[in-house]
Amino acid sequence: MNRKHIVANWKMNTTISEARELAQNLASHEFPNAQIVLCPPAVNLAIVAECIEGSKIQLGAQNCYYESKGAFTGEISPEMLVAVGCTYVILGHSERRHIFNETNEMIQKKVIAAVSAGLIPIICIGETLDERKAGKTLSVVETQLRDATRLLFDKGIFNIIIAYEPVWAIGTGLSATPEQAEEIHTFIRNTSTKDFGVITQQIPLLYGGSVNESNAQSLLQKPNIDGFLVGGASLKPESFLAICGAV
Ligand code: PEP
Repeated sequence: MNRKHIVANWKMNTTISEARELAQNLASHEFPNAQIVLCPPAVNLAIVAECIEGSKIQLGAQNCYYESKGAFTGEISPEMLVAVGCTYVILGHSERRHIFNETNEMIQKKVIAAVSAGLIPIICIGETLDERKAGKTLSVVETQLRDATRLLFDKGIFNIIIAYEPVWAIGTGLSATPEQAEEIHTFIRNTSTKDFGVITQQIPLLYGGSVNESNAQSLLQKPNIDGFLVGGASLKPESFLAICGAV
């Protein structure tokens, strides 16, 4: 299995025409060394699916609900994401946790629902600046990790991606150093291995938080950094292509 993944989180950016232009541009390139995943806003999933058809790029969503259908105004189900062409879904992004008050329990339900529908969840975990300053980084990451993955691993399901995204590094221009990121990635790897065995070592561990064309290469030198979840830089084709080229 190729553990290298570069995931573009466009967040709440791009109109339909901007999404088309960006996706068409990226689809005209080859990415031999990594799996590229584009996660546009939900309203642009269909147009991006069209643009990347025939390329090796895959489609992901930025969120989903944990029910299949029904009276949940404004929500989108995992099954709907599969129908529009998604293979992946980002879950537990810090903006979902901190702006929209998503709890570990909700994220666990979403992860289970996504996997049941056939999606690969990209599970985001990471500490805030206050938690880091208070020396709580490892315990926060451990709880988020275990809550999101335990039920899956119990059932022998390991087809997931984990993204370590320190909240203080997201959209701030202040990336974790390769050493800081590797320390937590090693901790994640060791925690899952201790709990569920070496099979968990096939799980790609992505880093996210102000990744750009200048820091991508040095982060990727670390053995437990298998790629990136990229926000801001994924909206600029030259930057995103340079990050992909660093793999
Ligand atoms: C993100 O949205 O997950 C992210 C890492 O954003 P940025 O690259 O802009 O820090």
